[in-house]
Amino acid sequence: MHKSRYTTSQIREILNAKGSVATDNPISILLTDSRRISNPSGGLFFALSGRRNGHEFIAEAYNAGVRDFVVKQMPEGYFPEANFLIVPDVLTALQQLAAYHRKQFNFPVIGITGSNGKTIVKEWLYQLMAADKNIVRNPKSYNSQMGVPLSVWQINDRNNLGIFEAGVSTVGEMDKLEAIIQPEIGVLTHIGSAHDEGFADRDEKIEEKLKLFKNCRLLIYNYEQLLEYKEAVKTPEKFIWSRKFNQADLYVFSEAAIEKNYYMRAVYKGEEIECLVPFRDEASIENAIVCWATMLALGYSPAVADDRIEKLTPVSMRLELKTGINDCSVIDDSYNSDVQSLEIALNFLSQQNQHPKKTLVLSDIYQSGLQQDVLYRQVAELVKARGVNKFIGIGEALSAHREYFDIPDKQFYKSTTDFLTHLQTQQFRNEVILLKGSRTFEFERISRMFVQKAHETVMEINLNALLHNLNFYRSKLKPGVKVMAMVKAFSYGSGTYELANMLQYNKVDYLAVAYADEGVALRQAGITLPIVVLNTEVTAFEKLTAYKLEPNIYSFGLFDEFIKYVQDSNIFHYPVHIKIDTGMHRLGFEDFEIETLCDLLEENPYVRVQSVFSHLVASDAEAHDLFTLKQINIFEKAYQQIEEVLGYRVIRHICNTSGIIRWPAAHYDMVRVGIGLYGVDAAIPEEENALQPIASLKTSISQIKKILAGDTVGYNRNGSLTKDGKIATVRIGYADGYLRAFGNGVGCMLVKGTKVPTVGNVSMDMCMIDVTGLDVREGDEVVVFNDKLKIEELAKQIGTIPYEILTNVSQRVKRVYFYE
Ligand SMILES: *Cc1c(COP(=O)(O)O)cnc(C)c1O
Repeated sequence: MHKSRYTTSQIREILNAKGSVATDNPISILLTDSRRISNPSGGLFFALSGRRNGHEFIAEAYNAGVRDFVVKQMPEGYFPEANFLIVPDVLTALQQLAAYHRKQFNFPVIGITGSNGKTIVKEWLYQLMAADKNIVRNPKSYNSQMGVPLSVWQINDRNNLGIFEAGVSTVGEMDKLEAIIQPEIGVLTHIGSAHDEGFADRDEKIEEKLKLFKNCRLLIYNYEQLLEYKEAVKTPEKFIWSRKFNQADLYVFSEAAIEKNYYMRAVYKGEEIECLVPFRDEASIENAIVCWATMLALGYSPAVADDRIEKLTPVSMRLELKTGINDCSVIDDSYNSDVQSLEIALNFLSQQNQHPKKTLVLSDIYQSGLQQDVLYRQVAELVKARGVNKFIGIGEALSAHREYFDIPDKQFYKSTTDFLTHLQTQQFRNEVILLKGSRTFEFERISRMFVQKAHETVMEINLNALLHNLNFYRSKLKPGVKVMAMVKAFSYGSGTYELANMLQYNKVDYLAVAYADEGVALRQAGITLPIVVLNTEVTAFEKLTAYKLEPNIYSFGLFDEFIKYVQDSNIFHYPVHIKIDTGMHRLGFEDFEIETLCDLLEENPYVRVQSVFSHLVASDAEAHDLFTLKQINIFEKAYQQIEEVLGYRVIRHICNTSGIIRWPAAHYDMVRVGIGLYGVDAAIPEEENALQPIASLKTSISQIKKILAGDTVGYNRNGSLTKDGKIATVRIGYADGYLRAFGNGVGCMLVKGTKVPTVGNVSMDMCMIDVTGLDVREGDEVVVFNDKLKIEELAKQIGTIPYEILTNVSQRVKRVYFYE
């Protein structure tokens, strides 16, 4: 965000757009999401056609106050004050505008790409050079066709160095990003197997990535990495680093892990130099060497490089949503603080409906490239627009600009320590608390005070993966087909309002729960979507109507009782859903009952049928396809009969997750997606990686023991090792949902990337695993399942289905939610 240097008509010219400009407005902000508009004045909205047509959101953006739009065609509707710039392709226009803006500046720009480590290297280079440069960079990992132009748009007059990462997933994308970033210095990070799917082979992928550097003066890269691609490197200058090749510009010849650090010696310009990295995992070491090489290539002295690298801090791009003390939720985002990431975090805060109050604890923002009064005025506007009720500002600069903040409940402290000494935690109750601080403010100290102490076994839920999966299924639907998200049984064990908030914000049409109580919990957490209760119970009628929950009516007995209840309560047209039993033989009206049902429904003033539905018994199994077809036929007949007597259209739905992929002709008006949202679908071959597992279950080692061959381990002496070795006791047992069936080597866990078997019986709260030969310590993390060790594999080990593995994880295991 910068002072507007553009106006509508100038941008019209830059884009060579059609359409007339009625009122010329200053433009400073590019908008792409109509839900995230906090300061509409100065905003230019790009109606990108994604999964849903961007044009649908024009009205939403217009109502929020936006007056300037880039569109593919004139939208329908009445927008008297709007300027529409008409272009052949909206994304291309966004990229053109960013490229134009970039051309106005001529300070050095570093372009980073690779398959792993781009964001870490970018953030670390920022940490390493922020002391003497005013740096502009991508917020978080905004490195896509849309993220890069939005990042480059932030360049302003005060910057004197740009660091931008570029990510591509298929051929032809890098040229576009190169034209926007226009880097002068290139940095190549690790190239591994990430995103292999989009390319014919490794060669094609590397060649695509190298296109970012085609106009660079200097490229910094690893010798071994490009050994076979020397011809493809065309930059006039090269800075090569290596851990093997002694002619490299930076040749690392000695390496040793020292406690939690990693010490390296290297030859540079004929001299021996050294560097201490405050990490010891291989990925961090490689990323640190890339940064080391870059600093040297840019002319920093070895002493300064070493001094600064030693102080590197971990980079975490994700927000964490955790359960807090006194009925609070805590959103932890203390990795960095700039206006863009503040905006993202505030946006996530505003999606939380579960508490009546929203609190922001914010530190001073460093290195924004803006004058302090401009910066804090912007921050204050943002905070107000996002509906923050309580504001706590920490730092000298925020304290000095306190009068900008127009919020009744505001407090300011000079430092984190100052805040903590005055902190009375009982004053925080039933609120969402967003912690957003620059590293140096050490907000983790505040986090420790607010977050409920958790047992060390946690299930991490990746909300971005949930969104990815939702969008995957949406992409399989014809326009207009609705989505019902199945959130029964704590969203298959993954959570309640945390997921529902996300699903509601992303506009699914319906939620479904098993029992009324689950629906009540969602309503109490502020969820306003229509909610269907699948297992309707007579005893829960009052709750249903009090909380606007929509019952599934599956039998005559239930029908009669419900009609009686609403009649007595003087309620009319209450929304209900009718379930047809087409073959499951669980709940629902059978085909011979439909006529009687129709008689009851005809001109019945007490209920309104919202939908008619059925459930497929084996939508994923080819062996039962004929049966599935039979189910579909029975269903068609039934709803036609029902619609006829009702005289109005109802929503028809029969597909669950696997049905969506395998039975597209049976999508009707809505689909019900359950397990697929959580990353599992038996109908999709695993190699396709179409879905992302949303849950990882992690625990830790409480003790390590040496065991001799023949020693027995655990209850009933069922476990032993065939040779001398060592076992680790980990903090998970059958009471946490790690079933006893996993014991005695049936199950395995991941320790430092290695799969190791269980030893002996699983106990109630812990179990033992074989860690012979591994370099592990007490306290180390152990993975029970994640994207490498999948739920599907665990299910196979004990002869069950993924549904059962997920829903078994007990409520004692704390859930932590991540969002990037
Ligand atoms: C649980 C459930 C679903 C979801 O099934 P998935 O296989 O998880 O997609 C759909 N419909 C009904 C009636 C259900 O009970």
